[in-house]
Amino acid sequence: MSKRGMLIVLSGPSGVGKGTVRKAIFEQDDNKFHYSISMTTRAMRKGEVDGKDYYFVSKAEFENEIENGGMLEYAQYVDNYYGTPLKYVNEMLDQGKDVFLEIEVNGAMQVREKCPDGLFIFLTPPDLMELRHRISGRGTDDLATIDKRMAKAVDEIEMMQNYDYAVVNDEVASAVEKVKTIIRAERWRVKRFLPDYKKQLGDVLK
Ligand code: 5GP
Repeated sequence: MSKRGMLIVLSGPSGVGKGTVRKAIFEQDDNKFHYSISMTTRAMRKGEVDGKDYYFVSKAEFENEIENGGMLEYAQYVDNYYGTPLKYVNEMLDQGKDVFLEIEVNGAMQVREKCPDGLFIFLTPPDLMELRHRISGRGTDDLATIDKRMAKAVDEIEMMQNYDYAVVNDEVASAVEKVKTIIRAERWRVKRFLPDYKKQLGDVLK
């Protein structure tokens, strides 16, 4: 049986640029991670592809999946469900492949409960002005909504303490490198390395 893969969770406050960093990692030629495509009830945006960006489903279909225990985690975000289908994650990890999730903070905390062996990385904004700029830069929100999103983002930043590593998203290329460095180092963490090493030595270690 091959060694179980590593579950990598990239999370952080809304508007911080998780999606941009994740996409940049997956666009690199040497990428070996397997992206877990999320399921959502939100409407498809222009340019998005069903089964690539998300699995776009109805509310009833999503709730059915929850009922059947098909979700590793899920959360409601701006009136829509978002969640990680369990089957793909389990299959990939069982095959020794590393799975990458890019999810919001409530979902990440559910994964932490279920998979304490995962690697939890928190992407955080360089400062709040920058975050406000990004949130308002989306163009459609009025001032009250922007204020609400900002207050929520500040609450979410407080959740950093539940993660293993923090990466400041000051520049995408630099954030990508930091995330990759963390993952590289994590492989050599003793708790991950030792079980295999013991086998390699022929079980002479206790
Ligand atoms: P968007 O609608 O902009 O694609 O995503 C909204 C938020 O949902 C982002 O913060 C994104 O990271 C998060 N998200 C995407 N997929 C999942 C998922 O499977 N589970 C959870 N909990 N959040 C997700």
